[in-house]
Amino acid sequence: MIAYTHFKCNQCGSDLDYAIGLHSLKCVSCGEVDPIEASPLDMYLAHDYKSAISDIDYFDPQNVNHELKCENCGANFMLPVNVHAEECPYCDLNVVVPVELSRKLEPDGVIPFEIHQHQAESAFDQWIGGLWFAPSALKRKAIQAQSILGSYMPMWAFDAQVYSSYSGQRGDNYTTTIHVPTKVNGRTVMKKQTVVKIRWRYKSGKVHNSFDDVMTMGTETLPVKFQNFLSDWDLFKTREYNNKYLSGFRSELYQIGLPEAFNLAKDVMHRTIRSTVRRDIGGDHQRIDHIDSVYQQVGFKLLLAPMWISAFNYKDKTYRYVINGQNGKAHGERPYSVFKIVGTVLAVATLVGLIYVFSHY
Ligand SMILES: [Zn+2]
Ligand SMILES: [Zn+2]
Repeated sequence: MIAYTHFKCNQCGSDLDYAIGLHSLKCVSCGEVDPIEASPLDMYLAHDYKSAISDIDYFDPQNVNHELKCENCGANFMLPVNVHAEECPYCDLNVVVPVELSRKLEPDGVIPFEIHQHQAESAFDQWIGGLWFAPSALKRKAIQAQSILGSYMPMWAFDAQVYSSYSGQRGDNYTTTIHVPTKVNGRTVMKKQTVVKIRWRYKSGKVHNSFDDVMTMGTETLPVKFQNFLSDWDLFKTREYNNKYLSGFRSELYQIGLPEAFNLAKDVMHRTIRSTVRRDIGGDHQRIDHIDSVYQQVGFKLLLAPMWISAFNYKDKTYRYVINGQNGKAHGERPYSVFKIVGTVLAVATLVGLIYVFSHY
């Protein structure tokens, strides 16, 4: 059994839950408000990556299963794996287990929830109603597979100065005149035609990219393909970590270690580096043969980000979705209607065909 924190009302002894939007705890029974004293997180704060990874413990976060004894109802219960804040499954008592019991790094900051559960639910309805190429029955038949869960998810944020040297080719368009044999009244004549060609030249160079707070997931609960969507946060609203923000929500410990997270961040950075290289090559077309990048002044911080998470069932399959708990945007896995896609492709093909036919007469 391990020790945990439970936030209790001084007036009546009931649970204090985080009050969304108020930076306070609020009593679920008597309404007593207890403001949280947490300053905005200095967003220029970053830990030195190089010195951090010299410690082997950052590589492989161990799975943990915390077992607790509820002080309210007396039940013993296990928190889900790698979860450090949750409710007692029998009496809803809010519990927060200290992060340092199982992880080297405590979160630096927390992005507080601003979206209420009912707002998240209507964001989901709107999202599913607005999906293109979704089966028509989806909206009626999508069945909530599990209740929507407010959860703080660990996210890593990386800064880096990246110096890249590249080699590639630059292509410039030029027009030239060629002679094409053409049949006119049964005779073959040579006709002039202007065509656009590309002249390729080798090009190499160096570019610099400065990255600030590239976000990658610290959780394995959500699929990696959600990552792009989950990088969209207003980080200036981040507060210094305070476990009171977690009261009434689930919160996960990071499961993706620091070096692995940095590799994910490098993938994200690499996309930006490639477009910088393309701009540097210039011309009308670019080919990149090779990029060699050096990452300097790498800094990181660990944040907890608010998400409403659930899943729905449709035709025996389960689709996961998540709603950003800060801005209410929805994103998820989804079914496609093959019928609608094929229909649209055929319609477009017919249209293109008709345009072709008419432009040749
Ligand atoms: Zn109270
Ligand atoms: Zn209990």
